[in-house]
Amino acid sequence: MAVTILAIVFLIVLVIIAIGGSRLLSKQTSNPADLNKEKCSICRKKFDKGELVLREIGDYKLLYFCRDCIVKLYADLGMKN
Ligand SMILES: [Zn+2]
Repeated sequence: MAVTILAIVFLIVLVIIAIGGSRLLSKQTSNPADLNKEKCSICRKKFDKGELVLREIGDYKLLYFCRDCIVKLYADLGMKN
């Protein structure tokens, strides 16, 4: 009896995981505009990849910078010199 209950609970958990997984997938596919967006590494706002400058740090780390932050950085540099 206990084994049957365990089996049923296990099945329910599996179903919940399956539903959660498919929801996650459909969320990703239903929002294709978001796939083309990345967060700016400085201000954390989301922009289209086309509006961001991409820099690689080392072999794997990718950093995106938006125009506003680059302009601010440039201004900061100008104040130093
Ligand atoms: Zn930014």
